[in-house]
Amino acid sequence: MAVRFDVITLFPDLFAPFQTIGVTRRAFETQAVDVRLWPLRDFADGTYRRVDDRPFGGGPGMVMLVEPLVRCLSAIRADQAAAASPPLPVVLFSPAGKPLTQQRVQQMAQGPGAVLVCGRYEGIDQRFIDAHVDEEISLGDYVLSGGELPALTLIDAVARLQPGVLHDAASHEQDSFSDGLLDCPHYSRPEVLLDAAVPPMLMSGHHAHIARWRREQQLTITARRRPELIEAARARGELSKEDERFLLKITL
Ligand code: SAH
Repeated sequence: MAVRFDVITLFPDLFAPFQTIGVTRRAFETQAVDVRLWPLRDFADGTYRRVDDRPFGGGPGMVMLVEPLVRCLSAIRADQAAAASPPLPVVLFSPAGKPLTQQRVQQMAQGPGAVLVCGRYEGIDQRFIDAHVDEEISLGDYVLSGGELPALTLIDAVARLQPGVLHDAASHEQDSFSDGLLDCPHYSRPEVLLDAAVPPMLMSGHHAHIARWRREQQLTITARRRPELIEAARARGELSKEDERFLLKITL
C-alpha cells in the first residue's frame, strides 16, 4: 500500500522538481508514495483570496487564517474517504515541534501517511492547531520561511525507504542512524589518488573483517562527533561486547 501525503501549501510549485528527479521520482512513478498537493489559496474567500491577516495584539508579520485551512482539510477528508483511505493524522511543521528523527521516518514509511501542513509568515492561528493538528515536527533549531522544505524533507526520507525505490535494497540499511550510529566512510576508484590510498582493509577481500572494520569506523566517528548516540545505542542494548571493547580502546 502506498504511503499517502496530502500537502497543504501556499506554494505547490515548490514540489514539482522532486516529482521529476532521482529517487523521489521513482517513488512517485512506482506509486510507492502518493503525494497530493492542496493549494491553500483555492480554499480562500473573496476577490483577494486572503489566506493571512494581521495578528491580534499587534506585532510584526502575518498569521495564516483558520477558515481556509479548515475548508482545505474538509476537502482532504472527503478525498481520503472517497479513496477508502483512513482519515490521516495531521502534521504541522514548526520550530516548536519535536525534532524529526530517522526512527520517526521509519514509522511513517510503514504508512498509511499524513496530512502535512506547511506554515508561512509568522505561522498559523493557534485555534487551527488546537482543533486539528495531531503532531508538530521540527527540522531543527533554526527558522525557515515556510514548511515546504520540511515537507519535502519528510517525503524524501520516507520515499527512499519504500521497497524498490533505491536500486540496491541494502543501501539504506547501512545509512547513518539506521542502526543508531553514523555511517562509515566510503571509497571508490582510483585506488590511489595523489597521496591518499584507500584503507588497505577494504582491498583485502575478507568480508567479515571488512564488516568489522566498518563497524569500528562507525563507532569511532559516532563516539567523536555524537557521543549521545552511543549512549542511546547502549541503552537500547545495541552494542555488542566486541563494540564495547573497541570503544574502551579508543577512549583510552
Ligand atoms: N514565528 C515562527 C516561525 C515562522 S516561519 C516561530 O518563531 O516559530 C514560517 C513557517 O515555516 C512555520 O510556520 C513552519 O511551518 C515553517 N518552519 C520554519 N522553521 C521550521 C523548522 N525549523 N522546522 C519545521 N518547520 C519550520
